[in-house]
Amino acid sequence: MTIDPVCGKEVNPENALSENFEGHDFFFCTEKCRDEFNRHPDRYAGEGLRAGVQYPMGVSKVPIPE
Ligand SMILES: [Zn+2]
Repeated sequence: MTIDPVCGKEVNPENALSENFEGHDFFFCTEKCRDEFNRHPDRYAGEGLRAGVQYPMGVSKVPIPE
């Protein structure tokens, strides 16, 4: 499982919408979230990319790898 950076929900990469930004894959629960990400990718991806992690600031729950 991974985190939708727009709404913070857990999503399954196997059936989620995805978008590649600056070499990182991001996954979204709905087209609405993906559209929002595409409008402001820096807002959602920027903090995480700068910190070297895939998760945005404000998401405290780290997914457990399966
Ligand atoms: Zn979402």
